[in-house]
This record gives sequence, C-alpha cells and structure tokens, in this order.
Amino acid sequence: MDLVHSAMSVSLPKNWRSTMHGTMLYGPRDVRFEERPDPKIIEPTDAIIKLSAACVCGSDLWPYRGIDVIKQPVPMGHEYCGIVEEVGSAVRNIKPGQFVVGSFFASDNTCEICQSGYQSSCIHRQPGAPTGAQAEYARIPLADGTLVATPELPPDDLVPSLLSASDVLGTGWFGAVAAAVAPGKTVAVVGDGAVGLLGVLSAKHMGAERIIVMSRHADRQKLALEFGATDIVTERGDEGVAKIKDLTNGLGAHSVIEAVGTHEAMMQSIRATRPGGHVGFVGVLHDVEIPGREYFFSHVHLHGGPAPVRRFLPELIDLIWNRKINPGKVFDLTLPLEQAAEGYRAMDERRAIKALLLP
Ligand SMILES: [Zn+2]
Repeated sequence: MDLVHSAMSVSLPKNWRSTMHGTMLYGPRDVRFEERPDPKIIEPTDAIIKLSAACVCGSDLWPYRGIDVIKQPVPMGHEYCGIVEEVGSAVRNIKPGQFVVGSFFASDNTCEICQSGYQSSCIHRQPGAPTGAQAEYARIPLADGTLVATPELPPDDLVPSLLSASDVLGTGWFGAVAAAVAPGKTVAVVGDGAVGLLGVLSAKHMGAERIIVMSRHADRQKLALEFGATDIVTERGDEGVAKIKDLTNGLGAHSVIEAVGTHEAMMQSIRATRPGGHVGFVGVLHDVEIPGREYFFSHVHLHGGPAPVRRFLPELIDLIWNRKINPGKVFDLTLPLEQAAEGYRAMDERRAIKALLLP
C-alpha cells in the first residue's frame, strides 16, 4: 500500500495543488517565471487544464522585442494541450482526465460564424484565451466549444505534435487552405519560421506538386525539405519574386502562403502569385500598406487572418494520432518551463526555430 499517497488523499482537499508558476513578460526582453494565482473556474463554461507542454510562439516575439508595446506585465503563452483537471457546471462534453488540445481563440463552436468555419471570429470569441499558457495550469473559457479531446491519453512522443496543432500547425494549415492549395499546384511559402515550415507540411499533405520555400537558414531549409519542399529560394524582395517567376515559366505561383506579417513579405507574396492565384496570409500584419492600384491589376485573391484553428483540430489530431504527419519536428529546443526566458532568447536570436517548454 502506498502510505504517502493515501495519507495525502485524506489530508488534502480534492482539488488541492501547490502554488502554480507561470511566465510573465515585464517589458522588452524581460521574461520572468514566477508564482501566479491558481487559475479558477470563473464562468460555468470554463475548464482548468494541467498543461502537458507549452511553447514560445513567433508572435510572442513582437511584444518581447518591444514592437508591440505592453503597458503592464502580461502572462504569456497561448498554445496549449494537457489534461483536464476541473470543469464548470455547464460543461457537458469535456471531462476531467481527458487530454485536450484547444485553439488560442476560445469559441462556442455553435454560432453561425463558427458553423461556417471561422471560430476565431466567433460572436462569443475570447481572444488570447487562455491567458498565460506558458504555465503549469490554465483556465480555458467556453471549454465545450474550444477544446477537442484525443481518443485516449497520448504517448509522450505525440505531445509536441499535438501541442503544435494548437497554433503553428493549425495556422500553417489555414495558410494553405486560404491560399487554395490543391493537388498539382505550385505553392510558394514566404517565411521559414515554424508556421511557414508547417505551411510546407500542410501544402504537401494537400497534394501540392511543387513547394518553393523562401529561406536563408540552413537548418530551416533542411526541415522544409523534410516536410516536402521541392525548391529553396534564398533571395528576398524583388529578387525573390523574380526567382519564383523563373521557376514558374514567368507566371508566378498558384498559391502563396505569407507567414511573416511585414509589408515586405506581403508585397513579395502578392507579386509572386500569378493572376487568378491566391495568397493565404497568416503572419500577424504589422504596418502593411497594399497599394490599391497595383493590387487592382494583380488579379490575386487575398485571404487570411487569425487562423480558425478549431475548424481543423479534429482532422489534425486524427492525422497526428495515426502518425500521418509529424509537425512536432519544428521544436528544435526543449527546455524546462522555468527556463522560458532562454526559449525567448534562442528564438529571438534565431538559434532555435521553436522552443518546447516542459512543466
Ligand atoms: Zn461561435
């Protein structure tokens, strides 16, 4: 008999846990791992999950670098997966003990906008939910709409891939869908961060014939090729566009996934797309100004925005569960959660593509 555990179960309340810790950003390049209040059920539709893994997102680097200015310390982290600890009284489908993956936008998954596949514009959406997933526990609003459970508890080696479905894979996938990737098409990917690389994986899975990735980093080129890229273009701007035209009989790609968010990347994407082609943009746009007249004459479709990851979660979880895709390869640095600050540094300095944080 296990005396220690039986004693604990008698002396402690059911939902007892030690004080939790989480990651806070205090200002540019000032990441601290510190004691945080335990997340609690606030709305009856909430769930509390114990995170199995967390990670640093490319979009976390905008406030980290001081480009997005924060006025007060903010809890960090919006990508998550883990085990449900507790659910509110109105939660019907999600149950304690389940392993779940959710999106960075909480959504009811029932309104007309959700039903049309745009859960990240849900009429009840809660952006940035959960607040602070680079932590031990997190509160997830609208649990029934936001979370998707795996068939059973996953083996450890699938956890990084399941975590990636929460944002970077779901976002790269949406970039490919928005760019109308389909069998036989030529796809160009602008951006070799985790989202761009998983855009390559997505395009490959969707049957693209040729996948051109724009990258200058040897480690990222290597992973892009593993994920299915067929060509690498190292030039940027007008030279990069010219290179893509060279590779496509002077026409441009059918589909371009824009996974950066800068003006240069957006213009490069539009100019590298053939008339009638599609740009799927999923990098958070910063100071992008598209000249109207140039765009008018381009005949290029533009679609994108915050990925409705929830739309794709059941399919992505199924592909990962059955080992058809291995998106977890984008994590090339693993750190204990308390060393989150080093994860930010490594990504900021491009020493790592994406940092996995283990509680
Ligand atoms: Zn909705």
